[in-house]
Amino acid sequence: MQKEKVNIIGSGPAGLTAALYIARANLKPLVISGNQIGGQISITNEVENYPGFPEGTSGPELAELMQKQAERFGARVLIDEVTEVDFSKGSPFHINTHGDEFEAGAVIVTVGASPTRLGIPGEEEFIGRGVSFCATCDGFFFRDKDVLVVGGGDSAIEEALFLTRFVNRVRVIHRRDELRAGEALKQRALANEKIEFVWDSVLDEIRGDGKVESALARNVKTDDAFTMDTDGVFIFIGHIPNSSFFEGQLKLNESGYLITDDRMMTSVPGVFAAGEIQDSVFRQITTSVGQGAAAGMMTERWLEEQE
Ligand code: NAP
Repeated sequence: MQKEKVNIIGSGPAGLTAALYIARANLKPLVISGNQIGGQISITNEVENYPGFPEGTSGPELAELMQKQAERFGARVLIDEVTEVDFSKGSPFHINTHGDEFEAGAVIVTVGASPTRLGIPGEEEFIGRGVSFCATCDGFFFRDKDVLVVGGGDSAIEEALFLTRFVNRVRVIHRRDELRAGEALKQRALANEKIEFVWDSVLDEIRGDGKVESALARNVKTDDAFTMDTDGVFIFIGHIPNSSFFEGQLKLNESGYLITDDRMMTSVPGVFAAGEIQDSVFRQITTSVGQGAAAGMMTERWLEEQE
């Protein structure tokens, strides 16, 4: 059993920023990274709206810099996944990972969110064989191919634009006739010759023989079904919080996000949360960083009050 003052679960921008603040308070936090340091930004190719980088940066670069900065002040990063938590008896809290067991004076939960699934036949079956939730990871495999992008938000349009570097054609299939994405991205996509839009339509099935070959779609206004031949389907229809782990331990709202108070504290005193696990509204790197800083500061203050 390893004793820690503060365990941070998750290593996205919120977790690494909380680690920086806790480390600078000389509390030597241990970050349990999950399977990918950086969380969602580790699979984000271009970051153009993070202040301090006038030319933009990449998600992996930003994550690496955030990690280095936290480590410089004494934070430690353990590459492992949490398998079980027990917050029921208050502080010290129990955390098990695949390889270790921890007792922590305070915990900050920053485990983020995961891509929402369409829930249609073929989606799970063809993951890694034409179905993808990450253009940065898989775009390269679709050189000179035709792909579909599902969704009309910032993620879908940003990823569609990224895919045009490799593919022959991107068809964005959106369930309405107006994009949710912001104006700047929208204008870039509409002006891009490789991008076509299929409006008012949804996918009902992804089909193929060993790999994706086509998709069955439907116009939601006319109910007409049609088939589109394609080599890949990239799905960007939002995210769900990775909170199932905390059910029964921490209070969640009806959408599954952790409920925090104005000091970033969850329903259990001494357990704090930051980033997309508790924020369904802003969901930006900048806002996650701010929430991580706030959670770090409040955790430090809470520990001080307990002494
Ligand atoms: P989002 O804004 O929630 O957009 C999800 C898109 O998927 C919407 O267009 C939605 O359609 C569609 N959709 C949802 N469920 C669907 C279903 N079952 N079938 C078909 N389509 C479905 O999610 P996001 O694009 O991941 O963005 C999340 C947040 O991150 C937003 O706040 C966004 O601004 C932010 N973000 C920002 C940037 C940036 O600033 N560069 C980049 C990425 C993300 P409707 O439009 O009809 O609802």
